[in-house]
Amino acid sequence: MLKIPIKTQNITSLRQSDIQKIRQDFPILNTTVHGKPLVYFDNANTPQKPQVVIDSVNDIYTKYYSSVHRGVHCLSEKSTRLFEISRDKVQNFISAKHREEIIFVRGTTEAINLVAQSFARPQLKPDDEILMTTMEHHANIIPWQMVCGQTGAKLKVVPINDNGEIIFEEFIKLLNPRTKLLAVVHVSNSLGTINPIEKMIEAAHQQNIPVLIDGAQAVVHQKVDVRKSDCDFYAFSGHKLYGPSGIGVLYGKKALLEAMPPYQGGGNMISQVTFEKTIYNTLPYKFEAGTPHIAGVIGLGAAIDYIDNIGLDKISRYEKYLLDYATQSMQEFSDIRIIGSAQKKASILSFIFEHIHAHDVGTILDQEGIAIRTGHHCTMPLMARFNVPATARASFAFYNTIEEIDVFLQGLKKIKEVFHV
Ligand code: PMP
Repeated sequence: MLKIPIKTQNITSLRQSDIQKIRQDFPILNTTVHGKPLVYFDNANTPQKPQVVIDSVNDIYTKYYSSVHRGVHCLSEKSTRLFEISRDKVQNFISAKHREEIIFVRGTTEAINLVAQSFARPQLKPDDEILMTTMEHHANIIPWQMVCGQTGAKLKVVPINDNGEIIFEEFIKLLNPRTKLLAVVHVSNSLGTINPIEKMIEAAHQQNIPVLIDGAQAVVHQKVDVRKSDCDFYAFSGHKLYGPSGIGVLYGKKALLEAMPPYQGGGNMISQVTFEKTIYNTLPYKFEAGTPHIAGVIGLGAAIDYIDNIGLDKISRYEKYLLDYATQSMQEFSDIRIIGSAQKKASILSFIFEHIHAHDVGTILDQEGIAIRTGHHCTMPLMARFNVPATARASFAFYNTIEEIDVFLQGLKKIKEVFHV
């Protein structure tokens, strides 16, 4: 295979023997696709689930299932206890100060919509501004566009350079007394760029501007500490963190959440109801109307235990090793352009083949058993910035291997053969 010198694997990273053991934890990784062993490089979209997560969801339905917070019987007490233990796990995972700052929602998308409607909408006035960046996911654009439509506020966008990094001086220039919120992605799902959120939060706070961080891609690759970064809101999804889909987290500073009106009305979010008036429940339940995704919450707790057990430090070093190997190896292809070459990057590799559409790249790789994502990755304005309709994106998780990257590189060669380029 390609003989490209790369830095030897950091000794504090995961070793080959660790990876082989880890791979046994993910039953789907033994699957074949079109008769070839599955190479799963669509992890930024959604990664596969370890057996402990699958077991925990299975256990809930086979051993403990009941509704939470409302029953006095044994099963309800047990499921409520496991549900609330998961909240503690999330609190520790992101180093939040209070457990009631952890709100369970459907995912990053719902978390951002909640902040847009409950936090921003009541205070926005015409000509106020919401500041974001060019590399936002649609989930961190459209809720703000909607709230701007409802209030007359305006969206302002921080430009990025050709490497896919925020132009910091331009960001500073855009902060002004009309800016009512900064909403920024921690790690770009399309480029892999890790944004300097601590510096951005500090600059925004100097002007009393609250900050929401879209952490959908960040929590899987690095330790997130909401107290250290001092963000006001942090949103992420369980399915990106090796947990179930349909569950996610909104972290918010307690004082802000307390001052916000509920997002949805219904059961669980109340303490007293008459036809004349409702007294809302305390945090976090004020924002958790209706029967929650019980198995999702408990499965997310199992996923956090699993990740903690391996260690995010080791995970991020190993994933960087995979990214460096793939990036360097792809230099051999003169007709491939990598989109996103920020100095600080997570293990996300977007690229385009000159003269070959990304969808063709994805389809041919699929025939080789390799799953990647192709398209605009829900970042159409970012695609426009790079003047491309779509990219192909390989994204690596800690269960991937150098050998799989070699299979992927062979797949790229095959694409060239098929298209005679
Ligand atoms: N933000 C980013 C950066 C993402 O990558 C995603 C998912 N691709 C989202 C937000 C939305 O997450 P979800 O669909 O889980 O709500």
